[in-house]
Amino acid sequence: MRRISVFGATGSIGENTLDLIGRRADYRVVALTGGRNVARLAELARSHRAEVAVTAYPACFSALKAALAGSGVDAAAGPEALVEAAGRPADWIMSAIVGAAGLAPGFAALAQGTTLALANKESLVAAGPVLMAEAARHGATILPVDSEHSAVFQALVGEDIAAVERVIITASGGPFRDWPAERLARATLAEAVAHPNWAMGQRISVDSASMFNKALELIETREFFGIAPGRIEVLVHPQSIVHALVGFSDGGLMAHLGPPDMRHAIGYALNWPARGALPVARLDLAALGSLTFEAPDPARFPALRLAREVMETGGLAGAAFNAAKEVALDHFIAGTIGFAAMAGVVEQTLDRLSSDPGLTIAPSSLDTVLAMDHLARVRAADAIADMSRKK
Ligand code: NAD
Ligand code: MG
Repeated sequence: MRRISVFGATGSIGENTLDLIGRRADYRVVALTGGRNVARLAELARSHRAEVAVTAYPACFSALKAALAGSGVDAAAGPEALVEAAGRPADWIMSAIVGAAGLAPGFAALAQGTTLALANKESLVAAGPVLMAEAARHGATILPVDSEHSAVFQALVGEDIAAVERVIITASGGPFRDWPAERLARATLAEAVAHPNWAMGQRISVDSASMFNKALELIETREFFGIAPGRIEVLVHPQSIVHALVGFSDGGLMAHLGPPDMRHAIGYALNWPARGALPVARLDLAALGSLTFEAPDPARFPALRLAREVMETGGLAGAAFNAAKEVALDHFIAGTIGFAAMAGVVEQTLDRLSSDPGLTIAPSSLDTVLAMDHLARVRAADAIADMSRKK
């Protein structure tokens, strides 16, 4: 029996993960976690016969407990309960909480020396060096789940990383790929979440539309594979069929192709180092006809430039970048700032922090990362308050 836990079980990645888990008789589900959607969390915990279900919110505890009555599944709530659940012995743990809230459970999972399937890219953006060191210290394995990073990981099997000349991650360009700047500034939440190819959670969908998702992924590539920023490229590919390409010193490129279905990347991490059969559609390239590529537009999508500046700064800039982006996204979702203002908020937050000597210090622990995350959230809120005062 292989013991499995899923953090963020009620989300898009979590549901896709459990879809694969439910097809196997040799897996035992240990912990499932979620947020406010306790009805769905309880339903998943019952059907997968989990040992424990944890909601992130203490206020949701009694509703979860009631929904699990008579099921034999334990209920728990709150951030400490999430960390405790991550310490329950498991052979494979999916990290699919959205945002910096995924950091602490991920670190707790690594401490048991297990395999962590990492969808939570924010962990690498905010705390890359500390996370990788923590994994090494405990003999834990981190496997990428982001489709581009799974693609790079697969293209690198059997290759010498020293022979890698460049890594190209693709971006669909999102729903606003062709929109002029004036229209972008007025884009609504409903328009931003209408992703042309991928069905994902609300937050990552907006990040895809703004290219902040690709900005996070640039940093994720740097941190996970240790590739120098100058060797990582972003290529817009509207069909989302080629997920990434790796270029070698002999000029050859290895591309990874697949349908836009996260169950491929999740399943690869689940079966790794073997390959198993997966219930994803098979590509019909003749029917697709053509695959197209274009350069991203830096003027309409400043997020990529900001990510490059963050990599240049190093230290805790990634933690600040992610936190500022989360605050800007919260405000866009709440309707208090416009779509194009998100990049401005992130840039101003980084500016305000640039005189802080703490920004360039290499993170030494999860606590130093979380302290910078907190500070950046305060600065981002200040930047938003100043922006609305000047209006
Ligand atoms: P989602 O919004 O669909 O689900 C998020 C999950 O996290 C839910 O279970 C929710 O209850 C939980 N959650 C939310 N806030 C929480 C908090 N404060 N504390 C604890 N749990 C909380 O998100 P998603 O699209 O599944 O994305 C999850 C992660 O995977 C993100 O880091 C995202 O960037 C990454 N990712 C997603 C996709 C995709 O296709 N959806 C692809 C690549 C990477
Ligand atoms: Mg991705």
